[in-house]
Amino acid sequence: MNIEKNTVPSVTYTLVVEGEVVDKAEKENPLSFIYGIGAMIPGFEKNLEGLSAGEKYEFSLQPDEAYGEYDLAAIVDLPITTFEVDGQVQWDMLKVGQMVPMQDQNGNPLNGKILEVSDEKIKMDFNHVLAGKTLNFTGEVLDVRQATEDELAHGHVHGPGGHQH
Ligand SMILES: [Zn+2]
Repeated sequence: MNIEKNTVPSVTYTLVVEGEVVDKAEKENPLSFIYGIGAMIPGFEKNLEGLSAGEKYEFSLQPDEAYGEYDLAAIVDLPITTFEVDGQVQWDMLKVGQMVPMQDQNGNPLNGKILEVSDEKIKMDFNHVLAGKTLNFTGEVLDVRQATEDELAHGHVHGPGGHQH
């Protein structure tokens, strides 16, 4: 079976960015996902299309096929009051370089990285950590199967490598 829409590929991968391994999945714990529903970044899915079990792959993705260009508009100053809990600024978590889990206006979770700390405001970077980076993937397709109706209805993989619900 070849990888196409509504199949579940299980793959190993190694992701190298600027010469360093930043993420990997090995044979013992492969990545399994429903193909063609936007579970992975578009460039990753495009390059796996049509592959079958046993095939190896190697490709690079420019930022526009991966996590986008680095966006200066995603760097914002937040008033220090944003970081108050019960009227107390949580200085413990306000360290330069720290990743802080926050929410956007619609309540969606997003992570911000602290760039600067002052008494009145915090400069934060809400770019994805891989924004602006070229991603270099290598790996192997271990298995390809049809997604079940339950998996398609839930939008995620069940069984090994997936959720059990
Ligand atoms: Zn489920």
